[in-house]
Amino acid sequence: MADTARLPYGFHLLAKPAGAICNLDCKYCFFLSKEELYAGGSFRMSDEVLDAYIRNLLEAQPTQEVVVAWQGGEPTLMGLEFFERSIACVERHRRPDQQVSHTIQTNGTRLDDAWCDFFTKHRFLVGLSVDGPQAMHDAYRVNKGGAGTFEQVMRGWELLRAHGVEVNILCTVHAANAGHPVEVYRYFRDELYAGFMQFIPIVERSTTEDLPTVNLGWSRRAGARRPLYTQSGTRVTERSVRAEQYGRFLMAIFDEWVRRDVGRVFVQAFDVALGSWLGRHNLCIVSPTCGNALALEHNGDLYACDHYVEPAYRLGNILEQPLAKMVASDQQLRFGQDKLDTLPQYCRSCEVLFACYGECPRNRFIETPNGEPGLNYLCAGYRLFFTHIAEPMSVMANLLRQGRHAAEVMVWAAERDKAQYARTGRNDPCPCGSGRKFKRCHGRDASVTTGIAP
Ligand code: SF4
Ligand code: SF4
Repeated sequence: MADTARLPYGFHLLAKPAGAICNLDCKYCFFLSKEELYAGGSFRMSDEVLDAYIRNLLEAQPTQEVVVAWQGGEPTLMGLEFFERSIACVERHRRPDQQVSHTIQTNGTRLDDAWCDFFTKHRFLVGLSVDGPQAMHDAYRVNKGGAGTFEQVMRGWELLRAHGVEVNILCTVHAANAGHPVEVYRYFRDELYAGFMQFIPIVERSTTEDLPTVNLGWSRRAGARRPLYTQSGTRVTERSVRAEQYGRFLMAIFDEWVRRDVGRVFVQAFDVALGSWLGRHNLCIVSPTCGNALALEHNGDLYACDHYVEPAYRLGNILEQPLAKMVASDQQLRFGQDKLDTLPQYCRSCEVLFACYGECPRNRFIETPNGEPGLNYLCAGYRLFFTHIAEPMSVMANLLRQGRHAAEVMVWAAERDKAQYARTGRNDPCPCGSGRKFKRCHGRDASVTTGIAP
């Protein structure tokens, strides 16, 4: 019997109806290699598995609000009829008090009016993978022939927009776009009119021996600039984002957002950070423990996490045992607890621990300065980012505690800018972070006192 008292409250499940199969061949996609796990298989979720999945999910969820989440590979390869059957399953198994919402993550290249009508009718939240303007997107998001996919994705985006579908832009951060944070953000906000966006760092460990050693971050302690971490044996691919670069990417976008977009553009990393400042952990990667975001393969196999679809992390199959039993199993609870138990001492004394918690264990493969293993590859970036946003985050958290709106932080940011500009010399770097001299940026006109765009 499942010990439902041990079920994580409102756990998440990502179902992959077509397994790792995709019509594209994005260079950084970690799912493509997962095809090998089910080599020779059909990579199509059967109606039997679909029904068992939906029934189990609705039975096991202790909450009234349940999300049915689809991803891949490319889930639209299953065809629209499959998703119509999924809606019928939900209606068949839903408790009267349950409200079910639907999400799907897609590369957008196969969408047409029929898909978009369906999404509108059933109020799907569609996650669309876009990595920025065309050159940045096409750097790695390519089709099987190696050609960029930007134009196909934009056709999908136009259809979604024309049908009024709610879209969340999912942007991976890598070597081709990490140096252009504001350009990427403005592109999503101003060209794609995105109200929701997520930035996911690409971190690929490399087994190639001749790759150059990667600089993971720098310390300025005592005024000296020196590498922050032991580099031995740590290798990532060239297209991976560098730790410090990722931190600066988020910082630059935050600086633009906090001045003009709070309350109208939702960036997952900022929302999650605000939760941490309020003492809530809204995403597994920044929580002390994890294990409540599982993955279901096309054949009904359940895995501890989408990033651990590997034999050692297989919990069982939903055709053979109840979902609740596997989610609340000792194996899964241990998986989640390990996130905390394996945290290095270095993290335990970190001033931004409450906002980071060592991030995701999959990225914990470097050493701390004193040689302890298990530090997160992105640590240098997270330290920079969380330190940089600490003051405005505290302001927003206090506003919310007083029952006021977080968007009032923009008034605070404008006042802070005004004070900073008043202290800045004409030949100093502009405090807005543009890299230009103050006199050629916000100091160009003495009347300019606020706003990021000079
Ligand atoms: S392993 Fe990482 S992505 Fe998976 S549940 Fe834990 S923190 Fe989340
Ligand atoms: S910022 Fe670095 S040291 Fe601090 S909790 Fe995160 S990974 Fe650990």
